[in-house]
Amino acid sequence: MCWHETSFGLYFIRNALQDGEHDKALMGALASNGCGRTMFELVPATPSLSGSQSAYIVRNLILATLPEADFALLRPHLRRVSLRRNDILHDAFRCPDAVYFVESGLISRVVRSPKDGAVEVANVGRCGFIGVSVVLGTMIAIQRTVVLVPGQALGIEAETLRGLMVERPSIKEHLLKYVQVLMALKAQIAMCNAKHELSERLARWLLLAHDMIESDVLPVTHGLLADALGVRRPGVSVALAQLEAQGIVARTRGALRILDLDGLRRSGCECHQVVRDRFRPFSGMPDHQHSL
Ligand SMILES: [Zn+2]
Repeated sequence: MCWHETSFGLYFIRNALQDGEHDKALMGALASNGCGRTMFELVPATPSLSGSQSAYIVRNLILATLPEADFALLRPHLRRVSLRRNDILHDAFRCPDAVYFVESGLISRVVRSPKDGAVEVANVGRCGFIGVSVVLGTMIAIQRTVVLVPGQALGIEAETLRGLMVERPSIKEHLLKYVQVLMALKAQIAMCNAKHELSERLARWLLLAHDMIESDVLPVTHGLLADALGVRRPGVSVALAQLEAQGIVARTRGALRILDLDGLRRSGCECHQVVRDRFRPFSGMPDHQHSL
């Protein structure tokens, strides 16, 4: 393990065995495989910038739906941050230095115990942010957050955001809407893990990951899926083999490709749709196409 200092002074733990070349290939596959389907069909509130302008347009759902007057206060403080596989953004029981609005990639929220290891309780993509404790004001992270799929985020110093939320309470009210969504997501996943078959839970996980990274190529291994679902690897292998036999997914190098999205939906439980419905407060808001 080695340590990497970010622009926020945070220290990410990085796995020394990480295969950087694999990540490059993976990101290329993701970039070339944009499926064009988004989790939410937001309506642009302002015209898109012309081609001659090269401003960065915010993709994060929570920021994109923030009214311009509120976003204008955040804009000078937002910094683009690369999210690399296995980066730990926040750790449980630690005070977060920054809040990360995910632009791309996939983050896993995990709980851990010395006896049982780690299990995922939720994941976060461009429809969420990392740093709930900053918004709540407790300033103690509840879970560890680990990057599963590399991507980018817009980061802001925790103390800066705290100050802006005091100055402009409407920013905090907006961010709290996501906190409620996250609580509902965790509750649904807890119910799913307790009551639904492994094959259904696996389909639910793959469908949510597909929504969040917006690609038919999911860079996941059997081991990662077993960890995420809190089960043994052979069980995941059996469930994946069934999906492969039905032509729903195919294994590629270090990844899974979804071949039949409707088939995957039929294989899953109702939890995927329930989680999507929980995001309705945001899906009804306009996309303000904020630029940096
Ligand atoms: Zn379920």
